[in-house]
Amino acid sequence: MAVPQNRTTRSRRDMRRAHDALVASNPNECPNCGELKRPHHVCAACGHYDGREVIARSAGAEIDDDAA
Ligand SMILES: [Zn+2]
Repeated sequence: MAVPQNRTTRSRRDMRRAHDALVASNPNECPNCGELKRPHHVCAACGHYDGREVIARSAGAEIDDDAA
């Protein structure tokens, strides 16, 4: 088993963790329904992308929002 040769100091550890912060996403407004959506992704609320409906939302289709 690999074992660290030297102890990581509090300073080194915290300098490493200084870059670990999560960055907030930058959502856009859907031009069709106005809902906030991820850029370059199909709108989870209305199923529109690039000005046309690519996922039938009105038909009651069961679609996972993360899969869209
Ligand atoms: Zn939309």
